[in-house]
This record gives sequence, C-alpha cells and structure tokens, in this order.
Amino acid sequence: MTFLIDIGWVNLAYVAASILFISGLKGLTHPRTAVRGNLMSAVGMLLAVVVTLLANGLDYQWILLGAVIGGAIGAVAAARVQMTQMPEMVALFNGFGGGASVLVAGAAFLITADPNAQTTIATGLSGLIGAVTFTGSLIAFLKLAEIMPGRAIGFPGMKIFNAVVGLGALACVGWLTVDPSATVAYWIIVAAAGVLGVTLTIPIGGADMPVVISLLNSYSGLAATATGFVLMNNVLIIAGSLVGASGIILTKIMCKAMNRSLTSVLFGTFGPSADGPSADVVYGGRVKSTSPEEVAMLLENAQRVLVVPGYGMAVAQAQHTVRDMANLLEARGVLVEYGIHPVAGRMPGHMNVLLAEADVPYESLREMDDINPEMEQVDVCMVIGANDVVNPVARTDPQSPIAGMPIIDVDKARTVVVVKRSLSPGFAGIPNPLFAADNTLMMFGDGKKALQELNSALKDV
Ligand code: NDP
Repeated sequence: MTFLIDIGWVNLAYVAASILFISGLKGLTHPRTAVRGNLMSAVGMLLAVVVTLLANGLDYQWILLGAVIGGAIGAVAAARVQMTQMPEMVALFNGFGGGASVLVAGAAFLITADPNAQTTIATGLSGLIGAVTFTGSLIAFLKLAEIMPGRAIGFPGMKIFNAVVGLGALACVGWLTVDPSATVAYWIIVAAAGVLGVTLTIPIGGADMPVVISLLNSYSGLAATATGFVLMNNVLIIAGSLVGASGIILTKIMCKAMNRSLTSVLFGTFGPSADGPSADVVYGGRVKSTSPEEVAMLLENAQRVLVVPGYGMAVAQAQHTVRDMANLLEARGVLVEYGIHPVAGRMPGHMNVLLAEADVPYESLREMDDINPEMEQVDVCMVIGANDVVNPVARTDPQSPIAGMPIIDVDKARTVVVVKRSLSPGFAGIPNPLFAADNTLMMFGDGKKALQELNSALKDV
C-alpha cells in the first residue's frame, strides 16, 4: 500500500478517531449528552474516512460518485423516515453494511498477490458474517415493512438444514485458508451464508425483530472487523469491534427487559400460553370506562401525575399532545413525570426519543427501577398506549409468557387512567388484568384524539 501521508500520522489520526467513537458512545448513554455523543462519533468517522482516502493516493472519481449517490439516499431516507419505521430503516442499513463487507473483503482478496493465512481467514469470515447480515437484515426489513408476513415461518428439518449449511460454509473458510487460489470457495461461502441469513431470520416472529436487528447490527460490526483484518486497516478493526460489542450488549439488555433468553428469541415463539385465562374471564363486566371530562377533574385535583407511554403513543404520534397536557397541568402546580420502561414501544429508547422530540425535559423522565418504589405516592397514573410493560401478571402468574418481565407497577398508583382504543392485547398477545382493576378507568380512543379532548376539557375546568 502506498501512503501519501506518513503511516505514523495516519495511525495517530485513527487513534483520535477511535477516542471520538468511544467518547461518542459514552455520550449516547444519557439523553442530555446523546446529541453531542452522536456528533462526536460522526466527526470521528469523518476524520477516519478523510485520512484513509488521503493516505492511499486513490483515483477519487468513482469514490466521489459513490459518496454523492449514497449520501443523497441516506439523507433522504433519514429525513423521511417515521419514528415507527425506524427499526426497519436500521435493518436495511445494517444489511448494506454486511453487503459492503462481503464486496470489499472479496475485492481486496482478489487483488492480493500472495495472501497469508490471516488474510484468507479474515476474508472467509467477512464473507460469511457479511452475507448472513445482508440477507438476514433484508428479511427483517421485509417483515417489519409488512411486505412479507411478520409471523414465524419454517419448514420441517430447518434447524438441521441450517447446521449443515453453516458447517459447509465454515468448511469452505478452511478450504480457502489451505488453498487461497480457490476463489470459488469464497463465493460458495457467500452463497451459503446468504441462504443461512434467510433461514435463520424467517422463523423469528415479527415482533421479536428488534432484538434480531440489534443482533444483526452486532454481526455487521464483526464483518467490518474481519474486513479490517483483510485490509489491515486499524480504524476499521476498532470501529467494527465497537459496533459488534455494543450490538451484543444491547441485544442482552433487550432480552433481559423482555425476560427472554436469546435462544428463545432465535428459536422459540412468544405468544399467549395455551392455558392462560381468556379475555372474557379477565375483564368479565369489571372494566369501567371514563370520559375526558371525568379525567380532567381527576387530574385537576391531583398533586402528582405519572405518564407511562407505550407503543400506542408512538402509533398515535401523541407525544406533542402529551406534552401539551403536561404543560396545562404544570401551569396549575401539578408535578408531572414520565415513567419509562426499557422496552416500551418497539425499539430501545423509543419513548425517550419521542418525548425528546416533544421537548419534554430530561429531568422529568424517570426510569422503571427509580419510579416503582414511589408509585404509591402517585395520584393519577396516565398509561398512554402501553400494555405489556404495565401488565401485573408478569409479577403474579408464573405461567404467563411475560412471567418475570420487570414492569412499571402502575397498578399501585392511587388511580390509573389507561388511554387506548379497545381491550386488544399488546405485543405479548395476553389480556391485562390492570384494565379491570378497581382503581383503573379506561379512556377508550386513539391516543392523540383522546388526549386532545382531555386537553380541551382541562382548559374548561
Ligand atoms: P404493547 O405492544 O404491549 O401495547 C401497545 C398498545 O397500544 C396496544 O395494546 C394497543 O391497544 C395500543 N394502541 C395501538 N395503537 C394505538 C393508538 N393509535 N392509540 C392508542 N393506543 C394504541 O406496548 P408496550 O409499549 O406496553 O410494550 C412493548 C412490547 O413490545 C413489550 O411486550 C416488549 O417486550 C415488546 N418489544 C419491545 C422492544 C423494544 O425494544 N422496545 C423490542 C421487541 C419487543 P389498542 O389496539 O386497544 O389501541
């Protein structure tokens, strides 16, 4: 490789970029520093890209064309995406990362005159992991975008098929290592891994997809690391490892918050248990519905209100209306806080992002473990489009599919108002006894519309 910049300066710039990545990741751990963290990581990436391009004395014509086309597609996609479509966009972009690793590692391998064992093994692994990530992410995207059925799809002997294809692909990595001239082995690895990505992802139910996307995100990082070893590019190895490690940590956090093992996400199903109580038994004549006027009076007399948002708030895009309600209450001296469950919505941090978009101050956001001990002091808990994350059966029924999942204990508040359209279940597909509890009132309606009516009523009381 001919460097136009001295290799020492290149590596120094890579160290600076890596420090920016790591500080950026640290910033992303808190909403207050997240925007700055994101910016720091982006600057780190810009530095890494610019230095890499300048260091190698390349012909920039095609690179510029690619950067302009890719950058335009990325900018338009990011500007147009709805918050509820974010997981599918992440899935698609992860997939492209995996695909890029396959192509870059393959191309570098083909032009390497006398590849050593490190280069060949890294190329094989980049092809393997990159292709699984590419096709797996495309399937995840198609399922989330409802272009493909979201349910689990399988065929008899699928696990054995996967094992045979996976072992076959690994055997080809061995073949390539022993005989680096056998480029056909690389394309067999890519083809087999491409099939594996499909057959590993189709048996996963649509609603488990966010966990799988986080896992595929981690794979795309590992593929980039392998490509870094092919190119001997330090910053790619470091950035890939950071993505790989953070993806796997996020996967673990999501599994824990859903009380699911990774194996059960990958190979199991998540649905109502056959012998769980039916909705008729749970609700049977005990559900009390209420009106915006009645809730306005309740809130008017409250001192402390907790808003617990869920997936339905995202669907209804009700975050601004929620904020308007909080403004009206705060103007009357009511303390308004927000209880955030780690897996409320359909991706980690979903609620934080929506509430930040509506300018809800970070100080008002309370994490589940932090707010639960104070729940008995909450006068009115407004549950907005949340269901599973406030379902008390997680505590009480060891047979339930959400048994043991940590929940926000809203049932312990003095009064609970649940805003949703019907008694339909949430993601886990099970009834929620909270809706029939003595201290619960149901305000049926679309999240945004119901809250607009509530805000009008609040202005009148
Ligand atoms: P749920 O999926 O349990 O419930 C959402 C509720 O929103 C539904 O019961 C629905 O009821 C209601 N809803 C839908 N549309 C509207 C609307 N327009 N207005 C008002 N309400 C509406 O959501 P939660 O946030 O409580 O729980 C998240 C679930 O997703 C958990 O089971 C979690 O494990 C899972 N999950 C989360 C991930 C994450 O990273 N956050 C990842 C993977 C899974 P109705 O139809 O009656 O209106």
